[in-house]
Amino acid sequence: MSSSTSSQEHSVVDALATVREQISTLAQKHGRDPASIQLLAVSKTKPVAAITNARQAGQRAFGENYPDEAISKVEELGSTDYDWHFIGSIQSRKAAALARHFSWVHSVERLKVARKLAENRPEHLPPLQICLQVNIDNEASKSGVTPPELAQLADQCADLSQLQLRGLMAIPAPQTGFEKQREAFAKLRSLFEQLRQTHPAMDTLSMGMSGDMEAAIAEGATIVRVGTAIFGARAPR
Ligand SMILES: *Cc1c(COP(=O)(O)O)cnc(C)c1O
Repeated sequence: MSSSTSSQEHSVVDALATVREQISTLAQKHGRDPASIQLLAVSKTKPVAAITNARQAGQRAFGENYPDEAISKVEELGSTDYDWHFIGSIQSRKAAALARHFSWVHSVERLKVARKLAENRPEHLPPLQICLQVNIDNEASKSGVTPPELAQLADQCADLSQLQLRGLMAIPAPQTGFEKQREAFAKLRSLFEQLRQTHPAMDTLSMGMSGDMEAAIAEGATIVRVGTAIFGARAPR
């Protein structure tokens, strides 16, 4: 542990406490058990020091988006004391390395990538925990499987050994206002409930970010992925 206390360190620790408090308050407001909602701290583009500060404040699960950056952070910090979640888009040539470094991947959207993840998941590690990313607003530019293709992809992924299908993830088109934000999350929840009839072990709805956390919690998020509210604004890449 560093003996110097920078103001950045304080701000990450304080922001983390605030976000945890908000999750707890929002859960209660919407009739949910706060313990049913996991906070994933999204640390993409942020330095390793910001991650270790958050770790010292008790945060264990971190989300990363860009494979090369993500893998070098995992290699530097190790996986004993951290839970690493990959949440970015996956080119199939990166899948093997991701399968070795991460415990979760939230952004599976194609069978080809799922197969690569499964084939390259080391035998000595537990199965890779995966969510299928759904293009919930049917945006041409967005990643994710379309709702009509979801059931088939889920069946195919569930058959792959070394993968464990945990649930669904989405990044809705930006909306302002709770009611508008809620619509996309309600759609994802409804797809999730339908799929659970054939995949009853699914237990994860990965939805909600800094700007739409309340709507996601109201609709049943079990993992919220929060970057800006913890680590501050990101510089444009
Ligand atoms: C960047 C990112 C987040 C975090 O977004 P913030 O608005 O900074 O909270 C969450 N999920 C995904 C998939 C992201 O790429």
